[in-house]
Amino acid sequence: MNSINTFISGIEVLDQPFKLSINGKLVNAQSHFDVLNPATNTVIAQAPSASSEQMEEAIDAAIKAFGPWSAKTWEQRSTYIQDFADALEARKDELITLLCLEQGKPRHSMATSEVDAAIYWVREVSKRTLPVKIIEDTDQHVVEVHHTPLGVVGAITPWNFPVLLGLWKVAPCLITGNTMVLKPSPYTPLTSLFFGEIAQQVLPAGVLNVISGGNELGQQMTEHPALSKISFTGSTETGKRIMASGASNLKRITLELGGNDAAVVLPNTDWETIIPTLFWAAFGNSGQWCIAVKRLYVHASIHEQFVAAFVEYARGKVVGDGLDPSTDLGPIQNRMQYNKLLDLFADVHSNGYKVPLGGHIDESLAGNFIPITIVDNPPENSRIVQEEPFGPILPILSYNDINEVIARVNASPYGLASSVWGPDRQSAIAVAKRLEAGTVWVNEIHIHGIDIPFGGHKLSGMGVENGEEGLAGFTNTKTYMFHK
Ligand code: NAD
Repeated sequence: MNSINTFISGIEVLDQPFKLSINGKLVNAQSHFDVLNPATNTVIAQAPSASSEQMEEAIDAAIKAFGPWSAKTWEQRSTYIQDFADALEARKDELITLLCLEQGKPRHSMATSEVDAAIYWVREVSKRTLPVKIIEDTDQHVVEVHHTPLGVVGAITPWNFPVLLGLWKVAPCLITGNTMVLKPSPYTPLTSLFFGEIAQQVLPAGVLNVISGGNELGQQMTEHPALSKISFTGSTETGKRIMASGASNLKRITLELGGNDAAVVLPNTDWETIIPTLFWAAFGNSGQWCIAVKRLYVHASIHEQFVAAFVEYARGKVVGDGLDPSTDLGPIQNRMQYNKLLDLFADVHSNGYKVPLGGHIDESLAGNFIPITIVDNPPENSRIVQEEPFGPILPILSYNDINEVIARVNASPYGLASSVWGPDRQSAIAVAKRLEAGTVWVNEIHIHGIDIPFGGHKLSGMGVENGEEGLAGFTNTKTYMFHK
């Protein structure tokens, strides 16, 4: 079992080696790849690069485990999953440190809250059920709708919330009677390998297999005829590829993809009180968040004061190493994303947009640090408004008319989430009803819950996670009709 044990002169050293979890066993790979700390770009560990044969072994193990696991009662599976939650809780501190080290998010804030939320999710999902629905019960006839497991599910996760988004898939998949092969992003494999190891202590062999390696393993999963479903969180481009390759055996597919979430601040809003909330909604996790506020529309009557106060609030926030307790925002998780942001910043500068805060990236720093950056009222068709930056840069836009702003928000091909802020709840709700998104918050934001379905419209995804709908997404609907 791994432990995260030493910090020598500020250099983090992780016990080696991290291992794959296949059929209840911890397994080495023939080759490995480096995992970097994004705050220093130093190697913190090596992760196993699984071969395609090892992926086959993991899928075989999940197939064999499916029969006995799905034959257990819901209550039996629930007990296993609660044991998993307890086992995670016992190793929580190490998981938090590991998350901070490989992802970059501050240990004392976001890394802790992600791990806490993930463990809570596992425990709470284990208590949920999918009751049989009686559609008809007459003298002659009964119609019942049941949910049956799908079989082996492939889970593919991104690098921004590797623990939470991974366990969001594991718990509902297993409680509904499926088995799983999970493949984390090659940028952040360690936390998933770590919770995979923990799972092997409490779950029957083969129920949860965790495999790290390159993107080609993800493709192998999506093309594999034995997998019944792919549950994917990541970019829209990869989502489209998964949908295409999953067509071969009509896999069930849940896609949680990118977004370009808008927040709309209505006239006469008590805007000073909402600035801290909107700041964190945009810049939390350094903007590397599918549901981060990525476009902030503020009514022209308050735009100028709003931008000035927002900049003032943002100015005091510290970007730095997530191990440092004074850090508010960590680095960008990887160089690929950092380079995308360099390009986007260059576009902002070359077009001469107003940048009242930030804007200058110090490329001499060892870590992938990007300053908190605000762009004041760039054109609607600018890249910074139209693209998902996935970094700590936010355009604050001005609008005059409610129909105009709704049209601008809805013109995006994405439809993940959005929020409306206003003094009068009913008129804010009326605006919310016209926004094209899977989730719309009014005078609050980023509330999630075990029983609250979450998913995107348009290019932001297909299907939902969480809620009864999310659980049902891991099942087939089976209708029984009995003649009395
Ligand atoms: P990505 O699509 O590059 O990678 C995600 C995962 O897909 C990784 O595990 C990767 O190895 C795997 N993968 C890559 N190519 C594959 C292929 N051809 N077949 C199968 N798997 C493949 O995304 P990312 O850069 O890791 O994550 C950032 C994106 O994720 C952003 O667009 C963000 O908005 C989105 N995201 C969405 C949500 C949501 O819930 N909607 C949550 C978090 C992140």
